[in-house]
Amino acid sequence: MEPAIDELLADANRRLGETIASPQPLHALDSMTERLEYAMNVVRHLESVATTPELRAAFNAVQPKVSVFYSSLTLNEDLWNAIKRYAASDGGRALTGAMKRYQTKTIDSFRRHGADLPPAGKARLKEIDVALTEATTKFSENVLDSTNAYELLITDEGQLAGLPPAAIAAARASAGSKGKSGWRFTLHGPSYSALMTYLDDGPLREQVWRAYNLRGAEAPYDNRGLLKKILDLRREKALLLGFHDFADLVLDDRMARTGDTAQKFLDDLRVRTEPRFKEENAALEKFAGRALEPWDVGYWAEKQRAALYDFDEEALRPYFSLQNVVAGMFEIFGRIFGIRVEQETGVPAWDSEVKCYAIHDAASGANLGSFYADWYPRENKRGGAWMDSLITGNPGERRPHLGLICGNLTPPVDGKPALLTHREAETIFHEFGHLLHHLLSRVEVRSLAGTSVPWDFVELPSQIMENWCWERESLDLFARHWQTGERLPEELFQKMKRAKTFRGANMQMRQLGFGIVDLALHRLWDGNSDVVKFARSVLVPFAAAPLPEDYAMITGFTHLFSNPVGYGAGYYSYKWAEVLDADAFTRFRKEGVFSANVGGEFRDKILARGDSEDPAVLYRSFMGRDPDPNALLERNGLL
Ligand SMILES: [Zn+2]
Repeated sequence: MEPAIDELLADANRRLGETIASPQPLHALDSMTERLEYAMNVVRHLESVATTPELRAAFNAVQPKVSVFYSSLTLNEDLWNAIKRYAASDGGRALTGAMKRYQTKTIDSFRRHGADLPPAGKARLKEIDVALTEATTKFSENVLDSTNAYELLITDEGQLAGLPPAAIAAARASAGSKGKSGWRFTLHGPSYSALMTYLDDGPLREQVWRAYNLRGAEAPYDNRGLLKKILDLRREKALLLGFHDFADLVLDDRMARTGDTAQKFLDDLRVRTEPRFKEENAALEKFAGRALEPWDVGYWAEKQRAALYDFDEEALRPYFSLQNVVAGMFEIFGRIFGIRVEQETGVPAWDSEVKCYAIHDAASGANLGSFYADWYPRENKRGGAWMDSLITGNPGERRPHLGLICGNLTPPVDGKPALLTHREAETIFHEFGHLLHHLLSRVEVRSLAGTSVPWDFVELPSQIMENWCWERESLDLFARHWQTGERLPEELFQKMKRAKTFRGANMQMRQLGFGIVDLALHRLWDGNSDVVKFARSVLVPFAAAPLPEDYAMITGFTHLFSNPVGYGAGYYSYKWAEVLDADAFTRFRKEGVFSANVGGEFRDKILARGDSEDPAVLYRSFMGRDPDPNALLERNGLL
């Protein structure tokens, strides 16, 4: 691996020289790193699914060299001059379609990396980036350290009342691992959320909730100064590069384009969500029989959910065997998108459980590409579910794509097939959507193909697929009892749907609050006032119960502040993508969830196009109009 990557880096550097000297540098740039990228895709992939200590060591040895090469490109003056010269030439000015967009995007990206700045500006930009890396690294260390510094040790068994047995067992094991007796709870996800959801003891819940929301707000893990520093540096960087604020810099190449558009989008959703939000909270207080504090909300909401909508999600498993889900999914999207998915046997892979499939165009029979599917957990595989590309082909030139989907789904046990949760079935559909975005891509410019689209657009093809896990008609194709073949009982189906929208306005307001505080910090904060107080005041209207004066959730918000950009000014994208997928799906609802007509359009206008056109234009060409948030409100039970 190491000699191969060294050789390919030397090759990429040779090609870089050729690109600079080429009469068509833009075309050369698009293919310059193709070999290196393919090799790194394979290396990164094997490190994710079949790692060994040797493989990891080799990966860690090559990874920094490769990232140094890539980050040097936008600082390469000769390359920048060659691109600008070409853009001003007759050839550059005559470009059309995807190649023209590639030229514009490349030039914009160089500018956003400071290529046009005078030497002093470039030097300052470099200092800012170094300082941002330091400050954000320290921010995230402080959150981790303050999280780890807290523990709640319970020695009186009576205080555990309300907790489920699994949470009690985990707390027992956690205490044991520290050589202590009793039950140990922490601020890490599973432990914290079990306490907030189930623990009967209110004062204990309050203590833990307060500790959680003061992470990073006190010595010795104080993020307050760092938070101000990060925001100041981001603002300075944006101004240096000619943008009004950091949100405008970050969103310049996203679908939303400006901070103002993202802000209006969130504000509009907030207005439409608020009435139901208030109703839900009034209903919860009525149910609890008293006014609630923030540490009571999760606890009482769980009691209310159990009283109103309780159903055992485990009862769904027999209807979602992996085999049925996958076969049904191929059938559904085969019909809708005019493709044929077939297993390919005898293809070697990294594990005997891995399957390989080919996708053909049903009408022409053309081979569009292949993919690997690796569903079950293993010790040498990382967690989560994901899609990745190995080869970006070009079906126009009969070069098929190659991709993969991986998961960590419930494996088969006791001689039964793998029986999944409904959420796991959704995950398969989700990743398959990303995969089709890659495999159905027909983009002449490699760098703009497949899933290489703006961040706030990339989840449209994946999230829209999840909708087919909620429609009676499509469920009937694949949600069949693994033994009897019986379809999902109507009663279970209705319960599943009702449970989905329980306190939907609260879930939505929470996400909107995060998105709005993110934009407020990166657009509106004046740079002088107390930043923690400012963030609290923005968040107050989004909380289900009054927030204490010292509420400091923002000093623990690693999403926004744990690396130089991260989700900074980008948290709105979660809701943005949900609006796109809910809205686009309304065409299937109206014209038929198996409509090959709508599917064909979705394939041609979205899936096939990658980033070859402005995503707002692609979306409009499919829907005939701009996105409408009503569909999301309806899906979340808020209309
Ligand atoms: Zn995704």
